[in-house]
Amino acid sequence: MKFGTKAIHAGIEPDPSTGAIMTPIFQTSTYVQSSPGDHKGYEYSRTQNPTRTVLQRNLAALEEGNHGLCFSSGLGATDAILKLLKPGDEVISTSDLYGGTFRLFTQVFEPYGIKFHFLDMQDINCIKDYINPKTRMLWIETPTNPMMNIIDITRAVVIAKRHGTMVAIDNTFATPYLQQPLDMGADITMHSITKYIGGHSDVVMGAIVVRDDELGERLAFIQNASGAVPGPQDCFLVLRGIKTLHIRMQRHCENGKVIAEYLKSHPKVDKVYYPGLKGHPNHDLARFQMRDFGGMVSFTIKGYDMNKTFKTMEKFKVFSLGESLGGVESLVGHPASMTHASIPKSEREKVGLVDSLIRLSVGIEDVDDLIHDLEEAIG
Ligand SMILES: *Cc1c(COP(=O)(O)O)cnc(C)c1O
Repeated sequence: MKFGTKAIHAGIEPDPSTGAIMTPIFQTSTYVQSSPGDHKGYEYSRTQNPTRTVLQRNLAALEEGNHGLCFSSGLGATDAILKLLKPGDEVISTSDLYGGTFRLFTQVFEPYGIKFHFLDMQDINCIKDYINPKTRMLWIETPTNPMMNIIDITRAVVIAKRHGTMVAIDNTFATPYLQQPLDMGADITMHSITKYIGGHSDVVMGAIVVRDDELGERLAFIQNASGAVPGPQDCFLVLRGIKTLHIRMQRHCENGKVIAEYLKSHPKVDKVYYPGLKGHPNHDLARFQMRDFGGMVSFTIKGYDMNKTFKTMEKFKVFSLGESLGGVESLVGHPASMTHASIPKSEREKVGLVDSLIRLSVGIEDVDDLIHDLEEAIG
């Protein structure tokens, strides 16, 4: 089966009791047993719930994996992955990381004795200087946020395997429609389902997909033992959202491309960060690694300070000013004061994250209206 067919059908069977084509919302905490231990595979909904099971199977199929696991948020999923480690272990991670992941690593897991190195992985060979027998995991986000750098997953895997290091990819920005890390040799792919996979800005959820049975069992153990599971209503909403994932992603990519080109030709715009532009430093790698270039676009305006940038952002009417990304509606964000406010100015400016940087999550509206909105806002 190809991607679009899997999005709609994989792991999904008509309900055996009624034939309902949509997976029912099994809003139950427990399951009746005829005799102690005599049950139909379901005992308690932290451990297993039929609506969640269907979603987990569907996600596993989309990521070309064998085991899918859902969590109550993206960070809940990352937390479960980090619990595979023990004190003394080391992790090498990309430097322009999702802020919440950085906070979880440095403020929750570092005090438990896990050591993190944050590297700009655009030259992937840099990990060779840090990888050692204690390095248990490579944590990669690509495309990165908000600078849209592309990290070479295949080469990262080659270096990691030589040292017996696990590779985990945060695939939130790309989604399995654009890239399938397990196919490139990664061990774990993780998602904030909240973003593109859910796609309708109405659910907070996370997921992990792996191929290896032992790893899948260990993560399922952690999912149940730590307990950050999503409810069945949310699983239903995500199953519903996924049915249009491929169509939505196609439109996100189309609109993203048109907007990136428009911004590039705008006299007031300084830099445009979009891997689909020929001038993007990792454009060739993006073409090799991804099916298309996604709907996230960042740009800067010539000579603008924080104040002028804020004024511009207040003018948007179709783009909504807000955190998050990946929904059908277009969003505009200001990384320096919102998602990346906790990073010191001198540090963030080193990677290009200046006060005039604006990040767009390009939605699936009519692109003419989006361009018009940008025209009005930028002037
Ligand atoms: C949002 C996000 C997360 C965290 O997911 P939540 O669902 O908000 O917990 C992790 N990684 C990336 C890239 C994200 O955008």
